[in-house]
Amino acid sequence: MGRKVLVLEDEENIRSFVVINLKRAGYDVIQAGSGEEALERFHENPDIMIAILDVMLPGELDGYDVCRTLRAEGSNAGIIMLTARVQESDKVNGLMMGADDYVTKPFSVPELTARVDALIRRINVNGFSQDVIKSGPFTLNLRSRELVKNGQHIDLTQVEFSLVKTFLENQDCALDREALLNAVWGPSYSGEEKIVDVNIRRLRIKIEDVPAKPKYIVTVRGFGYMWRKMS
Ligand code: CA
Repeated sequence: MGRKVLVLEDEENIRSFVVINLKRAGYDVIQAGSGEEALERFHENPDIMIAILDVMLPGELDGYDVCRTLRAEGSNAGIIMLTARVQESDKVNGLMMGADDYVTKPFSVPELTARVDALIRRINVNGFSQDVIKSGPFTLNLRSRELVKNGQHIDLTQVEFSLVKTFLENQDCALDREALLNAVWGPSYSGEEKIVDVNIRRLRIKIEDVPAKPKYIVTVRGFGYMWRKMS
């Protein structure tokens, strides 16, 4: 199969438990005990599909730093943060830095495995069908998973890519949070609807001319969001 998953966790007993279970689920698992080591493993294995990153680490880099670095280097691997904290701001932090999902400690290994499966499915499902969708200054290439605006490449996470794809396939159609959750995160996703708003906020920063006054992804008050069709 060779679907590679990186597990970054400094606590060895937690790490080996996660690793054993992911291996049992059929994944090719790569381990790291520090942020520095995780980046090294990533450079050696550019085909890593999913990275599970613990936030609290002993070295120079924490999980957020690793996430930010991977995105800055252009990686579009799926990223799941393991956060011990429960504050809303921490969840938002990780997502704003380019993570696709988060799991709060203590977590159950089946739940984590389910999240990995869901993210892999999302990455695979989005790979095919029609090749290119256009809207105004945007061109979304579904094979290369690339969004271009006025000839400029825009770096997207897996979730952002799925959101843009969902919007572009439903232009001028108001979508509520539940519809977006279903389309992007899948019907079995157990997280909160707020994750939709956080991702849209981040996406707007990347794609809108003036993020505070969005004209592509508009808010449909009391309902959800809509991609305004541009000729
Ligand atoms: Ca830790």
